Amino acid sequence: MSKFNDLPDSISILERAVNDGPSPVFSTSLSAEDQAITHLIYIYKLPIEIFVLDTGRLHNETLNLLAHTEAHFNKKIKVYCPDSADVENYVKINGINGFYKSVSQRIECCEIRKVKVVRRALKDKSAWITGIRSEHSLKRSKNTFMEWDNKLNLMKYHPLLNWSGDFLWRFILKNGIPTNPLHKKGFSSIGCAPCTRAVKPGEDERSGRWWWERSLINKECGLHED
Ligand code: SF4
Repeated sequence: MSKFNDLPDSISILERAVNDGPSPVFSTSLSAEDQAITHLIYIYKLPIEIFVLDTGRLHNETLNLLAHTEAHFNKKIKVYCPDSADVENYVKINGINGFYKSVSQRIECCEIRKVKVVRRALKDKSAWITGIRSEHSLKRSKNTFMEWDNKLNLMKYHPLLNWSGDFLWRFILKNGIPTNPLHKKGFSSIGCAPCTRAVKPGEDERSGRWWWERSLINKECGLHED
């Protein structure tokens, strides 16, 4: 894998996603990475649909950032929600916080509130753009900039894959891009409120996600598993 922190390379990956198919989409979690990609898509007027997944368990700060981002760019971002019957059935069987009980119950919650919804959002789309970076985890360090997803049957593009955290934050500050105030409280990676906590300096970036689970390798919700 080549190494770069270079903006033109990231833009060329986004353009490649546009040129390779008719309907590329970008799923934003409103993370710092995703806010940088949203900025690039809107500033360079790239024909890429942006959507966000409201799991029903997001931090208030994240939902407020969605409203702030729409106002900042003067754009509407599409919001997808989980199937209410799926959520009601999960809660009936496992309890409102059943994801703490076992890894399998956590993965089932992620499946219902995230993976299944993203599959619906990606149906018939030509490409999926994500904000993953190699530094996030050992698992993500093995990704490539463009890769075929067998489960979803589409190409995935990771334009920020080799951005360092330092480069990302310099880019955000330089361009006045809105970010989640939780970052200033030590949250490096922000997911659902009950499953995310702040990390200490030097800790793995995703160690605050599902912190009660031991493995750093499988700190994924299933969206980026293939
Ligand atoms: S991150 Fe937590 S609350 Fe959110 S979908 Fe996964 S298990 Fe459920």
